[in-house]
Amino acid sequence: MARYTGPSCKLCRREGQKLYLKGERCTSGKCALDRRKSAPGQHGAAKKKLTEYGTQLREKQQAKRYYGVLENQFLNYYKKADNQDGIAGENLLRLLERRLDNVVFRMGLANSHKEARQLVLHGHFTLNGHKANIPSILVRVGDVIAVKETESPKIKALVEGMKDTIAPKWLELGNGSAKVIAMPERDDIDFEINEQLIIELYSK
Ligand code: SF4
Repeated sequence: MARYTGPSCKLCRREGQKLYLKGERCTSGKCALDRRKSAPGQHGAAKKKLTEYGTQLREKQQAKRYYGVLENQFLNYYKKADNQDGIAGENLLRLLERRLDNVVFRMGLANSHKEARQLVLHGHFTLNGHKANIPSILVRVGDVIAVKETESPKIKALVEGMKDTIAPKWLELGNGSAKVIAMPERDDIDFEINEQLIIELYSK
């Protein structure tokens, strides 16, 4: 399965926004963006005025990188969102939020989407009682996502840590589990993004 393997902090510096790709480091004093605001590369510090296309592109890249989705998959989400009723931009964010790896992240079991994806790939979860190890599975209302029974101290510690999690209102947290009680709404998404710019980019 293809994935980005380059330096994560460079992506945040490129976008000029924290994308929270490195777990605890992102909220510590070690965050590369806190220490160095300029974009990576020789001319990164130069102030450039973005074109309309450039602005739209950056917005798309931010969303893609935040959710850890590659280009083709992101384009497919856009097409799906555009075919659904309602506002395409909100549909797009809703689809991304419904990914199983994002749910694991929202459950507070991982410090980043990358970590959440790893946990899913390693088979630590069930969806409605069945093994679920595909990060892109889209959850639906009524689904129950649960940590598989394990003797692993690491996983047990993650479940223990869930008690401090403030989950979005579309998820009802239990002990090592979450039930999807509604579809995610726009105001449930705290990531700073202008989804309309992404739709304009793809609509050209
Ligand atoms: Fe981004 Fe986290 Fe690196 Fe900071 S530490 S630049 S938020 S990945």
